[in-house]
Amino acid sequence: MHELSLAMSVMDIASRQMASRPDKRLSAIELSVGEYAGVEIDTFSTAIQTVIKSSQWPEAVAEINVTPSMARCLMCGKSFHPASQIPECPQCHSSACGIVSGREFKVIAIRML
Ligand SMILES: [Zn+2]
Repeated sequence: MHELSLAMSVMDIASRQMASRPDKRLSAIELSVGEYAGVEIDTFSTAIQTVIKSSQWPEAVAEINVTPSMARCLMCGKSFHPASQIPECPQCHSSACGIVSGREFKVIAIRML
């Protein structure tokens, strides 16, 4: 399960941060997940909650911010929200477009109390 292993990697990152602050406890993990990151948000959300519940900080929460995808046409330079992962420019209908955002999967912040 891809989402579960991702959740465990995120918890690893959080645990490493927490190791340097043994006087604190984890309160929240903030994540940025792109619309086309290849992550099933609902499944990931359930997985991270399960991982948190079995951690040393079961009361911590995961805040998942889904970031919309943006593509840019290489022919005319138009930026647009792609309807799929294989975008087509709405202006010149070129398929020479690159996805410039929306594939990221990042831990934005580890918050502690
Ligand atoms: Zn174009």
